[in-house]
Amino acid sequence: MTGTFTYDALPMRVVFGSGSIEQLAAETDRLGLRRVLVLSTPEQRALADRAAGLLGKAAVGVFDSARMHVPVETVQAAESMASELQVDGCVAVGGGSTIGLAKALALGSDLAIVTVPTTYAGSEMTPIWGITKGEKKTTGRDRKVLPNSVIYDPDLTMTLPVPVSGTSGINAIAHAIEALYAPDGSPVIAAMAEQGIRDLADALPAISAASNDPRARALALQGAWLCGACLGATTMGLHHKLCHVLGGSLDLPHAETHAVMLPYVTAFNLPSAPASADALARALRTDDAITALRALTVDLGAPQTLLDLGVGENDLVRIADEVVSNPYSNPRTFTREELLELLHNAWKGRR
Ligand code: NAD
Repeated sequence: MTGTFTYDALPMRVVFGSGSIEQLAAETDRLGLRRVLVLSTPEQRALADRAAGLLGKAAVGVFDSARMHVPVETVQAAESMASELQVDGCVAVGGGSTIGLAKALALGSDLAIVTVPTTYAGSEMTPIWGITKGEKKTTGRDRKVLPNSVIYDPDLTMTLPVPVSGTSGINAIAHAIEALYAPDGSPVIAAMAEQGIRDLADALPAISAASNDPRARALALQGAWLCGACLGATTMGLHHKLCHVLGGSLDLPHAETHAVMLPYVTAFNLPSAPASADALARALRTDDAITALRALTVDLGAPQTLLDLGVGENDLVRIADEVVSNPYSNPRTFTREELLELLHNAWKGRR
């Protein structure tokens, strides 16, 4: 990429490597934290306890009720615990749901955040927060919610089930693909996006073959970091908008929705973004990026249609109407009818 651009680097510290969770106390010490609340989902309580053990006296509590989409009630419960325990920081161990809770806490306070991501969703690299009240998820960008330090330990991803690894990895690839044609891209972002996609496209099939392959797990987490950084630094387009509306309106699973929609939206957009098409083809080591992307989602056993996710045909009009109601950046302009056709194709699996 050449031309005019602005690049605003986000100030985050990354500690990467097998066994790096052992450096958790050093990271909280660096930030001067003395009273830390450890956050997790109920399923990852054992990992949260391990993190608390590593922090010793500095860990004053564990809140293990993080949930998908950050419900406001969960935020309030965590806030009361944080205030009762007078914490000065939190450590989020888990995926986007747990990291999302840490961000919601930081939004209304001055709490420092250390994250230990265990999926490939990439939230730890972004200033994007989201809180759900009733059926409505409100999202925003605020530098306050950026984690201060991120510990990427691939050992912790060994337990991520293969299907979740696949869809979570495709979710990460989606960040990088949309960053390639984002209006606020730059050569730094383009390089990170291409490398992140390549890392994940190489690693995910290897994980599918052997879920405890340490090299593949490290490569996938490195790719997830790069793709997450792309998400944090750029404005996403039609794909993220569609997934946000589909997920929010129909309560669809986040990563699976990305996996279904990505080949369709990419095929729709790339003819209008030739440089991005070339970068994606290089990253996937192919001449035909769309076929390779589809093949990757099939090989990983990801759901292939909106019908597979339980979406009704009648829902598609509502989704299209909501998506066209707010303008946002995308390399290709389109009509409501074109969008509806795209949704119908993704619904039935028509290529
Ligand atoms: P998740 O955090 O909801 O985790 C899914 C499940 O997997 C949970 O039960 C979790 O405990 C479990 N899990 C996580 N890591 C595991 C591991 N290593 N081994 C075994 N089980 C593990 O899933 P996610 O896809 O990481 O996050 C999705 C959420 O993140 C969505 O709400 C999405 O909107 C949000 N998100 C936000 C951003 C952002 O920038 N704000 C970016 C991406 C995703």
